[in-house]
Amino acid sequence: MIEVYLAKTIVTMNASWPEATAIAIREGKILEVGTLESLQPWLIRFEHRVIDTYRDAVIVPGFIDPHLHPSMAAVILPMHFITAMPWSLPWGHVPATVTAEGFDQRLAEIAKVEDDEVLIVWGHHDLWHGAMTRSRIEAVESSRPVVVWNRSFHELHMNSACMSFLNITEDIVEGRPQIDYARGRFFENGLGYAIQKLNPYILAEARFTFGLERLKQVVAAGGHTTVGDMAVGLFDFDRELNVTRALFENDSTPFRIEQVPHGAVVTHQRTFEETNAFIESLIEGNTPRLHFRKRIKLFADGAFFSQLAQLLPPGYLDGHQGEWLMAPDVLEERIDLFWQAGYQIHVHVTGDMGVEVALDCLAKAQAKKPRFDHGFTLEHMGYATPEQLQRAKRLGASVSANIYYLHELSARYAELSVGYERASTMGRLASSFALDLTTAIHSDFTMAPAEPLLNMWVAVNRVNAQGEVMGPHECISAEQALAAVTINAAKVLGIDALTGSLRAGKTADMTILSDNPLTVPSMAIKDVKVLATVFEGELTQALQ
Ligand SMILES: [Zn+2]
Ligand SMILES: [Zn+2]
Repeated sequence: MIEVYLAKTIVTMNASWPEATAIAIREGKILEVGTLESLQPWLIRFEHRVIDTYRDAVIVPGFIDPHLHPSMAAVILPMHFITAMPWSLPWGHVPATVTAEGFDQRLAEIAKVEDDEVLIVWGHHDLWHGAMTRSRIEAVESSRPVVVWNRSFHELHMNSACMSFLNITEDIVEGRPQIDYARGRFFENGLGYAIQKLNPYILAEARFTFGLERLKQVVAAGGHTTVGDMAVGLFDFDRELNVTRALFENDSTPFRIEQVPHGAVVTHQRTFEETNAFIESLIEGNTPRLHFRKRIKLFADGAFFSQLAQLLPPGYLDGHQGEWLMAPDVLEERIDLFWQAGYQIHVHVTGDMGVEVALDCLAKAQAKKPRFDHGFTLEHMGYATPEQLQRAKRLGASVSANIYYLHELSARYAELSVGYERASTMGRLASSFALDLTTAIHSDFTMAPAEPLLNMWVAVNRVNAQGEVMGPHECISAEQALAAVTINAAKVLGIDALTGSLRAGKTADMTILSDNPLTVPSMAIKDVKVLATVFEGELTQALQ
């Protein structure tokens, strides 16, 4: 049976047929986009049903977040949030906490009412909440294990009670990189060690499943029909795979997940041939909603939120250096191997030196074995120079940006991190669009709220949390922003022939909105409501 949805406006994101008022769907695919009249050749021939519930609403292609982390979200969402920005989550609203005193007070309140075996709070950020240390946590709570996880997720602090609970002693961590035992600080690779120790607790079956259920609600509430898991194996590859399948591979999941393996994890203790065979086997095991493809996620420089991005001169105001997640020579070797084998490569880059290294690797790979349509993607791209974007264009790279950095961080980073010029030009999206680079926007959830309309709003208005417009020449149009969360996001994931726009033959993935984000005043884009989604032809009403 054909189903015909009527709407006030259907924004197709297909330039040759940009607007419509009716869309016909059969067996999960779009038959035709047009008007009730123009659809008649189908409708006079076949049985059909007209759905006019949304005749006053606006239909856009199903939102796509090409880069978030279900497993990271599953670990974080059961934690207690103490954050500098307000967060609205399907199960409740978290108010902003913007001072050190406020942070400690909130921590004390949580410690008083919660009886978790290990009390974990997430959201600490030095620039609002002051430097964290083991002793500062102990001034609030010393008798039970407490972990204060950084906003960036790439760093945490714990108190002594937690160290003894986890059997972490000074001589055990001696000589391990990126651990400051005295301060109770574990960051980047040192965080990996702390996570191993915390795994039995944070990955405990019930807790992890609870977190993943919450992630499912978040993705659905944001109006997504596709998300990219941009590092499967962040914690425990097999566990993530199994729980994800159990929880998402069923009819109650109104979206698909495009899965990209974590490049350091799948290559660990495997030759490249073994890694390749392993990924091939994952692809063979694809199920209707969960898909691996020939894609890999690699990492260059450190976390943007903890100022560990690697910067070209003039660097940071205080002269500190960023960190490498993969040393440049290791990154180069991995890019070379996956490139030769025909993979689509996604590289986490936060600073302009990270971008430089990634582009150098790409240039070498291109010189050795030229490839077209390779989908090499710069992920996050906090800072990049205009010349780097031009070089990215010449090398055929794409951009998937976290534009929420600008909203949350630009005021503080102007004052305390990199100065005004670079803080206000982070996320150079207008430059990227002007070069016709494939440009997508992601949340990297929980690095930004998984709310495409909110992230579009940031990209269009470039208003920071203090209400100031930052880098107005890098504002993009609402239409470009919508492309960045639909068709361009599909291109970044290599699935644009399947979804991302509305035209005959594509999968019927749609998001139904209260208003048209292309015509409302730009400051109102974030107030447009998600009413429902249609995933492969199946309607799911949004929780209101
Ligand atoms: Zn990343
Ligand atoms: Zn990420």
